[in-house]
Amino acid sequence: MFIISVFMGANYQRRRRSSYSLLFSILPQIMVLILSSHLNLLFGLKYLQPRKKAGSSFKIAIFADLHFGENAWSDWGPKQDVSSLKAMSSLLHHENPDFVVYLGDVITANNVPIANASLYWDQATSPTRDRGIPWASVFGNHDDAQFVWPVEWFSKKGIPLLHYGNCSFTGTTRVELMNNQIGNDTLSFAQHGPTNLWPSISNYVLQISSSEDAEIPVAFLYFLDSGGGSYPEVISSAQAEWLKGISEDINPDCRIPEIFFWHIPSKAYHEVAPWLFFVPQPCVGSINKERVCAQEIEVGVMKVLKDRPSVQAVFVGHDHGNDWCCPYDRLWLCYARHTGYGGYGNWARGARILEIVDRPFALKSWIRMEDGFVHSHILLSSQPASPAPVFFLLVLLSVLFFAIKSFHPIGLISKAKAFISQAA
Ligand SMILES: [Zn+2]
Repeated sequence: MFIISVFMGANYQRRRRSSYSLLFSILPQIMVLILSSHLNLLFGLKYLQPRKKAGSSFKIAIFADLHFGENAWSDWGPKQDVSSLKAMSSLLHHENPDFVVYLGDVITANNVPIANASLYWDQATSPTRDRGIPWASVFGNHDDAQFVWPVEWFSKKGIPLLHYGNCSFTGTTRVELMNNQIGNDTLSFAQHGPTNLWPSISNYVLQISSSEDAEIPVAFLYFLDSGGGSYPEVISSAQAEWLKGISEDINPDCRIPEIFFWHIPSKAYHEVAPWLFFVPQPCVGSINKERVCAQEIEVGVMKVLKDRPSVQAVFVGHDHGNDWCCPYDRLWLCYARHTGYGGYGNWARGARILEIVDRPFALKSWIRMEDGFVHSHILLSSQPASPAPVFFLLVLLSVLFFAIKSFHPIGLISKAKAFISQAA
């Protein structure tokens, strides 16, 4: 009896130990699952859900480089703002998105001679707000740029003349623009970002949640301020460090897909532009009219992105003549599409659209033009393809063919014979 009970006790101890060790081994995984499904509660992230019926995908329209307030003192300035409003109305009508991202250069502050440039900012965002669509923004290099005195405002003697009685040329700061955006508009999901990163504002994260349960994340949207205007055009090492920290906190196992938005392209865009050393890249888009005008320096943000397999794509504006997406390592680097009539360039106006599909996850994109035309469809959640080896083979064969044709010995011999017979 004793032996049996001792044996049973030992067995029980063993069972208890094994069940404890099993519990301890799976506890971290259970914790990760619980935590990752309640991230917005833990980290205070604001979340977004599809506005339409349950189970539907989440659609984002990106409005890039609107440049409201450009040449405000002339006839054509205000006229092009009206054209930008019409363009946005048409795009919203065709796509009816769940969310709009204003991708910087919302205004041309260097042309705005009034104390509160938020008036132009409000005008630019009105088509979205009027439809009750939530939205967010990042800053571009023109949004808080220093006012530049127009040449036509100088007298013949070269003295600057005041055109308006109540002009202010000091500009509206990023913080003031953000205060106004958040304070007056509950539909805005933009944030100031951590104060230790200032003067870089608009660094924040939003969560796209499942249509069935707001606590289940489907994707994270990261917004970064790429500088310009009142300070250098750069995503700083402090921002990269902050990004590394917060992404590891909210998405430690890289299980949730991540999507990035900022205004000025990184230097990495140079590396992937559609033609590199006369070799076409596997890019998708309709215009590639400009060289990449990148940030001044790269100090770490792209390394953070490369180290995270969850990163799907980056979207930038700034270069109005480009709308391509090209592969970079495991992710895609994309341009939006110039939406505004302000800013340089007369390429037809449009918007890049993103569609986020849950279970199984997919990130689709296309460009919708102001006239309703759609083009440049791409599946960004797929692994980017490398340049086709067939292409390189064709280039090699062509080079060999022309080399042989130029230096073919039979050709040389016949040329030599002809020369000798002529000479004779
Ligand atoms: Zn611009």
